[in-house]
Amino acid sequence: MKQTGIPIVISAASGTGKTSLCKALLKTLSHTARSISYTTRAARGGEVDGVDYHFVSDADFDRMIAEDAFVEWAQVFDHRYGTGLASVREQLSGGVDVLLDIDVQGGAQIRDKLPEALLIFLLPPSMAELRRRLVNRAEDAPDVIEQRLAEAKAEIEASAVYDYLVVNDEFEQAAIDLRAIVRAHRLRQNRPSELVEGLLGSPVA
Ligand code: 5GP
Repeated sequence: MKQTGIPIVISAASGTGKTSLCKALLKTLSHTARSISYTTRAARGGEVDGVDYHFVSDADFDRMIAEDAFVEWAQVFDHRYGTGLASVREQLSGGVDVLLDIDVQGGAQIRDKLPEALLIFLLPPSMAELRRRLVNRAEDAPDVIEQRLAEAKAEIEASAVYDYLVVNDEFEQAAIDLRAIVRAHRLRQNRPSELVEGLLGSPVA
């Protein structure tokens, strides 16, 4: 039976642990691929073009918008990010579930355009813990951390359109919860109706 893949959106405020949880989820799920977004930001140390992101110029990004090449795109912090329509469509029609690690603006667009999508929002256990994680990560200057915390509240507010909220208090538990949600959604979405018909049509042994 040919099945269509499910778009799985995972969003969170910066510092919640989304990247690590997405990696853990991808390791444990079969027939699931991560969507590789396009971005106008520069690659950070260790990031590889075509693996972490497709790093493109502003002009290329403008051209892709004009060509309707994005299923969603948004300005996040100082740069633009977008999900390519062609690759997502190809993966979904090939029966592959696609994990979209995107922000809440993108999540809202996916909600509208792909109603079958599963939207999961990750929450920190508290704002104090989120601050602690951002400080420990030592990636941002103190003023940037304050800005991220202010933005986090707006993002958490936007989580209302998401199907599930998962608290990343204890990493292993959050990973188990994510996997359970995806598994349940798959079972709900891919109902084996042909099997039901076959069972009903076959003689009782
Ligand atoms: P970073 O620059 O740290 O890799 O990502 C910044 C934010 O942009 C993260 O919240 C990430 O989920 C989001 N993001 C990455 N790719 C996309 C995308 O294609 N679309 C949208 N809307 N957000 C994205």
